[in-house]
Amino acid sequence: MRDSLHIPEEDLIQYALGTLKDTQLSTLTAHISLCNACRDELALIMVDLAAYATVQPQSEVPAGARDRLMSRLTSGSTATSKFVKMRNKSRIYIMSKSFQHWLDTPMPLRILSGALAAALVFMVYDDLAHIHQIRQLQPELNRIESETAQLQELRNFLQGNHAQQVSMHEKPSLIKAPEGHVLYSATSGKLVFTASNMPAPPQGKAYELWVLPVKGSPVPAGMFTPDLQGSAAVIFPQIPVNLEASGFGVTVEDAAGSPVPTSAIVLSGQ
Ligand SMILES: [Zn+2]
Repeated sequence: MRDSLHIPEEDLIQYALGTLKDTQLSTLTAHISLCNACRDELALIMVDLAAYATVQPQSEVPAGARDRLMSRLTSGSTATSKFVKMRNKSRIYIMSKSFQHWLDTPMPLRILSGALAAALVFMVYDDLAHIHQIRQLQPELNRIESETAQLQELRNFLQGNHAQQVSMHEKPSLIKAPEGHVLYSATSGKLVFTASNMPAPPQGKAYELWVLPVKGSPVPAGMFTPDLQGSAAVIFPQIPVNLEASGFGVTVEDAAGSPVPTSAIVLSGQ
């Protein structure tokens, strides 16, 4: 009766060992995430596995020693759940059988260390339901991680000292005048600004970028100091969303930044 309601011990051990097939794995994960009894038992199995993995000698264990170790581990563990106590006997048998089978396979150590790592994760979270959530979150985490990496790459590239910045014109002129380029989305509040041929600002000063709104006073959009080649970039400064811009401007301000422009605009565009 119990076995039809709950996951059989053998399957829980397989689950803990990570030797289940994908279809079984998702079915069991779904059950474990909802069932306290199976979750508790799995937690105890994982802890026992981890303990066993850490003390398991690599050389051949004398006959009987493994069984003695297993009983010691099981009797020493605080099996609070009645459900677990009732099944301790069969657990010892199945676990030692599984271990013997395992130790004959080419990579028992890899699996054992995997079980140890998993047990540590479980002990940290103290809630096996999380493993289900973690599995579901993994693709999302991977996506965020890769997007963050890409953004960081873009950031490094735009701010890099060795990036070559070329402005293209219909008729290229020999005089390189200071120039700024803005890419701005009011709906997302995202802005990317790049500048070229900017002279170095006076000592203690820096350039400040402004969004000139349709209504109201200029909104600060980041400080920048050009590199030796006169190139600079401001990437994703803090700007309120839905700020309709009528234009953009650059002034020279104190290096710490200023809440309002205090000098003449050196670059502007609409
Ligand atoms: Zn259950």
